[in-house]
Amino acid sequence: MSDLVIALDGTAASGKSTIGMLVAQRLGYTYFDTGLLYRAVTLLAIRQQVRPDDEPHLAKLAADMAFAVRGKTALLDDEDVTTALRSPAVNRHVSAVSALPQVRAALLDEQRRLAAPGGIVMVGRDIGTVVLPDAHLKLFLTASAEVRAQRRYREQRARGEDTTYTAVLAALQRRDRLDSSRSTAPLKPAADAMMLDTTCLSIPAVVELVLAAVRRVAAEHPAADSGRDQERPMYPDHSPQ
Ligand code: C5P
Repeated sequence: MSDLVIALDGTAASGKSTIGMLVAQRLGYTYFDTGLLYRAVTLLAIRQQVRPDDEPHLAKLAADMAFAVRGKTALLDDEDVTTALRSPAVNRHVSAVSALPQVRAALLDEQRRLAAPGGIVMVGRDIGTVVLPDAHLKLFLTASAEVRAQRRYREQRARGEDTTYTAVLAALQRRDRLDSSRSTAPLKPAADAMMLDTTCLSIPAVVELVLAAVRRVAAEHPAADSGRDQERPMYPDHSPQ
């Protein structure tokens, strides 16, 4: 399969990460979840008690942070922050932090650099619209808020978190509202995105739909092979360059 660039956007808990990871695995592609970058900046901001309206300070945190992923472990300054990035406090504040244009700008080049060699599934909110507008394939995943909340609720209970379905539903709806209404890079499908409503679809069914789309696009772009053999990290380190 040629080395395509695949942009996978969608609402919170629509299955982007699960689907993106499985599709990347099947294709032998790199998988990159950009939500972790915004979560990492938010975690730093909470820890350092940076005010939510101090945009230059937050942007500096984004530009300077040493963030990396090894396998499924997220590292911030070599500390394992995999669980901390999904904490309720980060969930609560991440949309406000990611709405700031300077924070988004600080993270943009690194995302583009990572995708440049192709052979990547990049997951987020603005990948097809802003980060990689020339992606070979753009997908936008969604599902009813109730189904997404059920999925997220089950995950959180399985991790032993003390929560309720109603609280999870309200938090998801709030995050979608904030992400869709911000003025910079709002959550929205690209005009040429393939829309996938996963409300009534199983994970394997969605994966097969995506792979069929990939095969179609690959047939149109036989020369997309751009050197995936060159070495690159699963995630970039966000240290100053
Ligand atoms: O995908 P995930 O739920 O981990 O994303 C967390 C938050 O990060 C989103 O609610 C959104 O505010 C922000 N985000 C973003 N742009 C992206 C990825 C995530 O604004 N490309």
